[in-house]
Amino acid sequence: MAQVDRDRRTFTGVVAVDGPSGTGKSTVSRAVATALGARYLDTGAMYRAVTLAVLRAGASPADAEAVATVLVDAKLEMGTDPAAPHVFLDGDRVDAEIRTPEVTAAVSAVSAVPAVRAVLIATQREIIGAGGIVVEGRDITTVVAPDAPVRVLLTASEEARAARRGAETGTAATDQAQALRRRDTLDSRTTEFLTAAPGVDVVDTTEMGREAVVDQMLALVAERTGFPVPAVPTPGT
Ligand code: C5P
Repeated sequence: MAQVDRDRRTFTGVVAVDGPSGTGKSTVSRAVATALGARYLDTGAMYRAVTLAVLRAGASPADAEAVATVLVDAKLEMGTDPAAPHVFLDGDRVDAEIRTPEVTAAVSAVSAVPAVRAVLIATQREIIGAGGIVVEGRDITTVVAPDAPVRVLLTASEEARAARRGAETGTAATDQAQALRRRDTLDSRTTEFLTAAPGVDVVDTTEMGREAVVDQMLALVAERTGFPVPAVPTPGT
């Protein structure tokens, strides 16, 4: 697949980004998509939206059959503009509801249900389509888009991740460390996102600011696809 349309300078490739929570994955992926003029897909938001549907239906996240039944009727739509990525469930915009502690606590169980993974992975591949997109999650570099020309695993020390999540959610870093460990353990049964698969570049963000991570990602895009490094707009411009 051609990665660069030299006349229009349109990025037509796929950038696959995996990593655990608290690595800055979403912020960085959105910024990279914006800089490339590409679309952006948050696959975690898709698993969260299905989890919200399960909770709304009063089904148990641990009941795989009940979860699969909810999935059949759930209508999910993803907005892929990196400036305003939206998630719609059954016609309602649920960007805030999918981030509640209740959804976060239940999402690992729902995402472990094979029917959920099968449907969402197929949907993700459909959205990826011909490319021009940055996709983030836990199994993008390995399962969803293993042939993507740019595949990156973002990592960070547990301490740094807990501090970032604490700042995002306004809670104590110590509480976040425990919650992160629990979710990593549960999610690791379903996806491999703590170590890089062969050929996947690792960016350790522990000591890096957001801009430095974005710069490194864009340099990787240039190296792997030949797409010229775009100037990153400064915030507020
Ligand atoms: O990235 P985020 O923390 O929003 O992801 C929420 C949850 O969705 C994860 O904890 C994991 O259970 C699930 N997930 C997944 N595969 C992905 C993305 C997210 O199983 N590609």
